[in-house]
Amino acid sequence: MRITVLGATGSIGKSTFDLLRRSNREFAVAAITAKRDVAGLVSLAREFKAKLAVIADSERHRELRDALAGSGTRTAAGSEGLLAAADEPADVVMAGITGAAGLAPTLAAIQPGRRIALANKECLVCAGDLFMRRVRQTGATLLPADSEHNAVFQALTAGPIESVESVTLTASGGPFRTLTQQQLEGVTPEEALKHPTWSMGSKITIDSATLMNKGLELIEAHHLFALPAQKLDVLVHPQSIVHALVTYRDGGVVAGLSVPDMQIPIAHCLGWPERIGWDAPKLDLAQVGSLTFEAPDPVRFPALRLARAVMEAGGAAPTVLNAANEVAVEAFLARRIGFTGIAAIVERVLEKAASERLGAPETVNAATAIDHIARIRARDLLLEFAAKAS
Ligand code: NAD
Ligand code: MG
Repeated sequence: MRITVLGATGSIGKSTFDLLRRSNREFAVAAITAKRDVAGLVSLAREFKAKLAVIADSERHRELRDALAGSGTRTAAGSEGLLAAADEPADVVMAGITGAAGLAPTLAAIQPGRRIALANKECLVCAGDLFMRRVRQTGATLLPADSEHNAVFQALTAGPIESVESVTLTASGGPFRTLTQQQLEGVTPEEALKHPTWSMGSKITIDSATLMNKGLELIEAHHLFALPAQKLDVLVHPQSIVHALVTYRDGGVVAGLSVPDMQIPIAHCLGWPERIGWDAPKLDLAQVGSLTFEAPDPVRFPALRLARAVMEAGGAAPTVLNAANEVAVEAFLARRIGFTGIAAIVERVLEKAASERLGAPETVNAATAIDHIARIRARDLLLEFAAKAS
């Protein structure tokens, strides 16, 4: 089986390659991509004899080409290179780029006969209708690699979709679950990057601390499973063992459980419809002891409220929320704004966009244009929130 990994050098990419090393299946690596990490890309290209290696930052193409000269791996760069990676013949594509930057290459990777393992949830938030339409038109198979959605996907095999009463995604609650509003104002990027249960890239780790990640995941589920907003909810579960629950109208509840390790849902995507064998970590519930659950607090974690509102509003609102959040998270990581400034900036940009009543983007260009304006508006607010943070 031929596999392409978009975002090969990130957390999802690394987990995917580690699984390829440990699984009982043979995979041939087609294309791999990275934003800037030439050394990481070169080492993967050599180890897995990739057909094509693509660096998004064009200025690093020469370095990549020189390092892979004579290796048998072709190279490319920039946004055209990313599209070439999406086009390289492959059976499975792991979509592991972070942010709306993954939209164009991931959409291009949706082709007839292909299986897409989707980690890049921002694609669906930014342009969910467009994305799902492409999946339907091509007949490609879309499998969720996100742990909660992977659990939902598996739990949905227990009954017809019409009989689903509700789908519940769990959230660990992040590192600040028990902090007061006042304490939240002063948290640092280092504290926010210490996730209690999952080890992930920096953007999603900050999203997990604000609970925006769970908000993005509600919208992701809304598109993936074509479920209305009112059937989707969130439950805080600090142990991250139960990833999601599907409640059927007869009262039955089917849940997906595992050790919190992304290689488990990734293995499901790569093996589907069969099951891959690997030295998977075993869930020992006697050792875990207790599983606890609580309702999320919408006051301390307003990102969840904002995401739910845009999911219900539809149109361009989710695209705007995603773009503003990407800018605000980056600014928080760069210490330009405080933690609570993230959701505040997203809310202000959403308010500005609400009166324009733009429809959901029908093309990549439309999505990019909405995303672009929201980013400018978010950047314009950074100074104002920087002043408040200091
Ligand atoms: P990461 O930051 O560790 O890696 C991102 C990858 O994308 C890297 O290979 C990077 O080079 C590439 N990339 C980043 N910006 C790019 C750009 N502008 N153009 C081209 N390539 C770019 O992120 P991650 O934690 O691996 O997350 C990837 C995606 O998977 C995100 O959408 C995240 O929400 C989702 N996800 C991650 C996890 C996890 O455990 N890490 C779990 C569920 C979902
Ligand atoms: Mg998740």
